[in-house]
Amino acid sequence: MADKFVIAASAAEAAALRDGDSAFLAGGTEINRLGSSVDAGTLISIGRIAELDGVSIQEDCVRIGAMCTFQDIVENKDVPQFLKDACLFMGSRTKRNMATIGGNVALGRTDSYLCATLLACHAGIILRDAEGTSIRRCVKGYLEDRAQYSDMLIEALLIPGDAVVVSKRYSNTVQSHAVLTVSAGLSGGLLRIAVAARDTYLGLLPEISTAIAGAEKPLSDEAILKLVNGCPQLAFRQDMFGSPEYKRYLLAVTIADLVAKVRGGEA
Ligand SMILES: Cc1cc2nc3c(=O)[nH]c(=O)nc-3n(C[C@H](O)[C@H](O)[C@H](O)COP(=O)(O)OP(=O)(O)OC[C@H]3O[C@@H](n4cnc5c(N)ncnc54)[C@H](O)[C@@H]3O)c2cc1C
Repeated sequence: MADKFVIAASAAEAAALRDGDSAFLAGGTEINRLGSSVDAGTLISIGRIAELDGVSIQEDCVRIGAMCTFQDIVENKDVPQFLKDACLFMGSRTKRNMATIGGNVALGRTDSYLCATLLACHAGIILRDAEGTSIRRCVKGYLEDRAQYSDMLIEALLIPGDAVVVSKRYSNTVQSHAVLTVSAGLSGGLLRIAVAARDTYLGLLPEISTAIAGAEKPLSDEAILKLVNGCPQLAFRQDMFGSPEYKRYLLAVTIADLVAKVRGGEA
């Protein structure tokens, strides 16, 4: 439990303060919840840092400050609808008013509300290291190598201006954890399929994306199921949400549906 609280005045100060026994306090929905996954001696509040606020349109992307809450994003006119849809996967308005996009990406949960959508649109991420240097990466690289970036401050997410994404989340109720969140996106002419599969895998499915993109005509559900069955990273387990076979089937038919929608411009 934290016994020290520091309020950082700038992104550089926050990044410099971070060490192995501290955490950034953003919306606090994870840090302050009972049984939190975050255990830190020092909390560095980043709520007063102007650089982490706001949404702005840049040359080829929309920049979303890490301290933007889910509800800020839902209400902002410049944010693409597909990201608003992903924010609305968080069913509680109270939680949407507090939880931030930076906190969600930093947690990198396998049932993340936002990460599949951010991966499918090929979002970028701006990080600040302890020396004060700003670094640009893609969300894919950040999530694949979180250990390397875990002490860095997320300053902003960059959503490509040309991206379209369709996402689908499966959970027992809107307030329950999701067993699967699947996204299909088009950006820079490339099809990207991403999945947040609870307790199993969070990331892109490049083999499936390439096979679907390269096929002359739309692949059948059976053909996509075969591709899903061939992905070693999708080692689903039996749990309260269903059997591994059921989850693979659900993922396959969802991919087929989302790809048709994103290609048909229904995003
Ligand atoms: C009942 C309940 C259910 C939940 N269900 C889900 C769920 O299904 N899916 C899901 O994804 N989340 C879930 N969460 C977790 C959480 O609400 C969200 O992930 C939220 O987006 C976290 O953002 P925050 O601003 O509240 O983060 P905080 O709680 O403030 O911080 C969480 C972590 O992120 C780090 N962090 C925060 N901001 C930054 C930054 N700018 N740069 C670097 N690191 C940062 C902190 O160091 C800390 O380790 C749930 C929480 C609760 C209470």
